[in-house]
Amino acid sequence: MKCIRVRNFGGPEVLCLEDRKDLRPDPGQVLIQVKAAGVNPVDTYIRSGTYPQTPELPYTPGLDAAGIVETVGEGIKRISPGDRVYATGTISGSYAEQALCKESQLHILPPTVSYSQGAAIGIPYATAYHALIHCAQVQPKESVLIHGASGGVGLACIQLAHSFQMNVIGTAGSEAGLTLVNQQGANHVLDHRKTNHIDEVISLTDGRGVDVILEMLANKNLPQDLPALATGGRLVIIGSRGTTAIDPRQIMIRGASIIGMFLFNISERNATNIHDALEAGLNNGILNPVVGQEIPLVNAADSHEAVMNSPAYGKIVLIP
Ligand code: NAP
Repeated sequence: MKCIRVRNFGGPEVLCLEDRKDLRPDPGQVLIQVKAAGVNPVDTYIRSGTYPQTPELPYTPGLDAAGIVETVGEGIKRISPGDRVYATGTISGSYAEQALCKESQLHILPPTVSYSQGAAIGIPYATAYHALIHCAQVQPKESVLIHGASGGVGLACIQLAHSFQMNVIGTAGSEAGLTLVNQQGANHVLDHRKTNHIDEVISLTDGRGVDVILEMLANKNLPQDLPALATGGRLVIIGSRGTTAIDPRQIMIRGASIIGMFLFNISERNATNIHDALEAGLNNGILNPVVGQEIPLVNAADSHEAVMNSPAYGKIVLIP
């Protein structure tokens, strides 16, 4: 089977297509034929070798995937050969024609959801759910600024926020991204390339500020975000790529909270809640992942360049 292997940490060029022996499931494992693999920013951080948790070399990258179950190992009860599934993590890496998974990493893909959409669910939707529901503890009809709404996580945040009838302000940094965020149902759309866009958040909420901010680039936006928070507001840091300085008084006078989140250290209970809720949302159509680009597996290096560069437009997936 063909797969991407990383033999040295480094730039996108270290992602090389190789031929490997077909995989076989051990007891407790499931083998899937990968139809699409999700490309997440974290895959690039791991590939560069600078991430706190790095795999042993060589390795096959990728955490998210969707495909068909080929064979199951001894002891597997819930999943059967032929099932359409999406994976939230794999044992062997998802940038490949085949992937080994634990049964707990697999979820049935509803017939209405394509494989490419299935590969867009794992990290983006789990992150969006954890940020909104567990971290910000949103209430119906609150207001939310999704600061970076045109990418995988941001679009998932819009769809989930809608299910709470929230007043959604979404930002993007390109015309295509702004149109997409608008089509996905944001009540207001702002361009984060404009220096005064945060002033518009304050005027859109009649000076009150928003109840919740979901921040995709905290190192750039955190100082300006704080004055746009309402009293009792919650700001969840989802993404940050550097350092910044803030005025603590802006948090104090609002009785506001800044909450950091990291998907890889959530409790088992939260993980179960998340995937039960996502399954329900996918089945009833409230959640409908947006795939922006399908890139052949052989061009995995291009997918890593694309995911780290604006403009974002939905999810990038690799097709083996
Ligand atoms: P993505 O698909 O590449 O999207 C990136 C988003 O950031 C786009 O909407 C992009 O908008 C936006 N952005 C770019 N410049 C911005 C700015 N100045 N202000 C606000 N937003 C800006 O990535 P993703 O999968 O959605 O992930 C988003 C971030 O969350 C990444 O940094 C990722 O590493 C992080 N993340 C963290 C966790 C966690 O556990 N904490 C989990 C998943 C993801 P334009 O391109 O339209 O400008």
